[in-house]
Amino acid sequence: MDKADELRRSRELMSEYLRLNGLRNTPERQALLEAVCMTEGAFMPESLLTTMAEEKKFRVSRATVYNNLNLLESAGLVRKSCLNGQIRYEKAGYVNKGRIRLICGMCGRVTEMTDDRVRRQIEDMRKTRFTMTEWSLSVYGLCSKCSTAIKRKQNKLNKIHKEKK
Ligand SMILES: [Zn+2]
Repeated sequence: MDKADELRRSRELMSEYLRLNGLRNTPERQALLEAVCMTEGAFMPESLLTTMAEEKKFRVSRATVYNNLNLLESAGLVRKSCLNGQIRYEKAGYVNKGRIRLICGMCGRVTEMTDDRVRRQIEDMRKTRFTMTEWSLSVYGLCSKCSTAIKRKQNKLNKIHKEKK
């Protein structure tokens, strides 16, 4: 599905959800949905706020973003997760089938990889009373950029500590 199709489909799902729940489809909600559709991987509400202000020239309050992300979650359009006490969201349709996703707990960057051994193991798994249709696997940790940054910070602290002695 390309971006335009995805956006059209998401819009349909959202209007349907709003209609069923007797809610209005406001320009803010439309803009937020659009911004969400443009994201790749996990994002934090704060970064969405920035994106919307910069690219869409659309100023919305923090509360609007949070409230509407909850709404999109209820509508099944985004998934919420919590990592190191930080709430992040991602498009519900983003997970690619049969992929291993490496998620950085600091910056939220998601990279994807495949591994034939893992794939075979999961597909050969005996699942009682469960018919598998697709799978994805998330691995949480630190990306190279963030782990380098942490190491650098740690070294600096060690140096300061030594100098004090
Ligand atoms: Zn990172």
